[in-house]
Amino acid sequence: MTQENKNLVTNYPSAKYSWLKSGGIISNLYKIYNQIDLSNLFNDNDSKAKSLLVIGNLSNTLIKDEGFKGIGIKLLGDFTNIQLKSDHMLVGAAVLDNYLSKFCYQNAISGYEFLYTIPGSIGGNIFMNAGCYNQEIKDKLISVIYFDINENKIYEKTISKLKFEYRKGFQKKNTIILYGKFKIIHSDQSYIKDLMQEYERVRNQSQPQKKAFF
Ligand SMILES: Cc1cc2nc3c(=O)[nH]c(=O)nc-3n(C[C@H](O)[C@H](O)[C@H](O)COP(=O)(O)OP(=O)(O)OC[C@H]3O[C@@H](n4cnc5c(N)ncnc54)[C@H](O)[C@@H]3O)c2cc1C
Repeated sequence: MTQENKNLVTNYPSAKYSWLKSGGIISNLYKIYNQIDLSNLFNDNDSKAKSLLVIGNLSNTLIKDEGFKGIGIKLLGDFTNIQLKSDHMLVGAAVLDNYLSKFCYQNAISGYEFLYTIPGSIGGNIFMNAGCYNQEIKDKLISVIYFDINENKIYEKTISKLKFEYRKGFQKKNTIILYGKFKIIHSDQSYIKDLMQEYERVRNQSQPQKKAFF
C-alpha cells in the first residue's frame, strides 16, 4: 500500500488516545472499515512481511517511546456494530465493553454486566480473555471470527477448540480478531441494572478512575 491510501494515518500519536495518555508514535496506522479493506491491505507479500500491531481501545497497550514502524491496524465501520440474532449476538471487535453492556441491558440480555466497568474493546477482550467479578469473556463466547493475514481469509473457531487461560485469550500470530459470536440469556432488566450499578460502585471504590494527568 502507498502513502495515498485513504485509510492510512501516518504518525498516529498513541499517547493522545491510550488510557495512560502515554506512548510512542505508530508510523503507519491503517483504518479498516470492512473486509474489503483488509483483503486489499494484505493482498501483497510486502504488507504480510511487516510486523503487525492491532490496537483496540489502548487500555492495555503502551507503545514504546521509539514508536512502532510496522503495520498498525485500527478496526472501525462494520466492526463497531452489534447484530442481534435469534440465538446469538455478533459483536464487532471494535465495539467498546461499556457500549455492549448497555446494549445488553436495553435488550434484557444478562451476563455482560461485568463489561460495564472494563475500559476495553471486544477485540482486546478476546485477545486478553478479559474478566472481572468471577466472569471471563470466554464464558460468554460461542466462537471467534478472525482474519488470517497469511492466507488473506476469514475463519471462525468455536470456543471449545480454543485454549483460553487467565488473561490469555485468542493470541494466534498474524491474525486479526474481527467479531465475537456471543451467547444470549434473557433476564429481568432491573436485575441487570442493579448488577451494573453494583459493579460500578465496587470498581469506583477499589480503582482510580480515568482522570487527566495535567
Ligand atoms: C482502569 C482499568 C481497568 C481495567 N480493568 C480490567 C479488568 O477488570 N479485567 C480485565 O481483564 N482487564 C482490565 N483492564 C485491562 C484492559 O481494559 C483489558 O485487557 C481489555 O480487554 C483491553 O482491551 P483494549 O481494546 O483496550 O485492548 P488494547 O489495549 O488496545 O490491546 C490489548 C491487546 O489486544 C490486542 N488486540 C486488540 N484488538 C485486537 C483485535 N481486533 N485483533 C487482534 N488483537 C487485538 C492488541 O494487539 C494488544 O496486544 C483494565 C484496564 C484499565 C486501564
